[in-house]
Amino acid sequence: MIKILFSASQKDWEKYKTELIRAMNDTKLVYEITTDLNCLDANYIIYAPSGGLADFSKFRSLKAILSLWAGVENITGNTTIKVPLCRMVDTGLTQGMVEWVTGHVLRHHLDLDMHIKVQDGVWRNNTYPPLASDRNITILGLGELGLSCAKALSNLNFKVSGWSRGQKSNIENIKCYFGNEGLSEALKRAEILILLLPLTKETTGLMDERMLSKVPHGSIILNPGRGHLINDSALLNAIESGQVRHATLDVFEIEPLPKDHPYWVSDNVTVTPHIASVTRASSSCDVIAKNILRGESGESFLHLVDRKNGY
Ligand code: NAP
Repeated sequence: MIKILFSASQKDWEKYKTELIRAMNDTKLVYEITTDLNCLDANYIIYAPSGGLADFSKFRSLKAILSLWAGVENITGNTTIKVPLCRMVDTGLTQGMVEWVTGHVLRHHLDLDMHIKVQDGVWRNNTYPPLASDRNITILGLGELGLSCAKALSNLNFKVSGWSRGQKSNIENIKCYFGNEGLSEALKRAEILILLLPLTKETTGLMDERMLSKVPHGSIILNPGRGHLINDSALLNAIESGQVRHATLDVFEIEPLPKDHPYWVSDNVTVTPHIASVTRASSSCDVIAKNILRGESGESFLHLVDRKNGY
């Protein structure tokens, strides 16, 4: 009997339980699922830190920890984890991110606000939206989410560049940069800059005054990655000076974003409340069940976190 501990919030359990049971039944494995943190003989822990569990050392039969979320920055530093840690890669989550990014890119690319917000009886037909093929977009992070967004934008004919830690080759129609030298080149092309990096020691505060000065004057920034990727005061200064024309931010250093935060009142900032994408119960439970099946068949786990690199 495989023992599975679901350790997340009660709200998550309500959201996931039906789909989890459905997905586990599909595997034909014999299993039991509990939310009881005293189930010390659990073989797999489906995990979000919101469940309160922090000490994994007492689980002696543990084979893997399966994160419910894509971002694992609050888990990787846990020194009591001695088993494989897998992050969430879920088709629903990816599709949601592609839709959020594409929607906000098109808003800024077409300057939709000009006609949506200004309905003043003036017939302004002397400027036309540019074509996507005349617009450079850079995505920092070419992983599951960044690459999917890059491909979607490239399919709309945008000129897309991307930046990653390791070198990428042969990604059709995406200009790929990597490493420190690559970053400056990638930023130079960023009329629209999208941040889809994980939060690690190396990426924390990456977009500081110096990096923000490298994007073309009047750039647009979209951050659906993590709030700490950007230095808030550097971004506000860059907006003030016009170096950054608009920032659409989904993630923040403190969430919920405090009511008195300057982002709320800046005309050149759009705040979305960490809704760019979310793990979808149905597709993510299939991923979890598939990984448990792999673990039981002695196959390597999918979506393993490299804890040394922090993602
Ligand atoms: P991923 O598949 O792990 O991809 C991460 C990408 O970032 C990879 O291309 C990686 O390079 C690159 N990278 C990491 N460290 C780097 C560094 N120091 N320098 C340059 N590139 C670096 O992650 P993902 O699934 O795409 O998710 C990305 C992030 O999105 C998550 O970590 C999470 O924070 C955020 N997220 C936000 C929401 C939301 O609703 N706002 C939802 C889900 C996820 P390599 O390819 O070379 O490894």
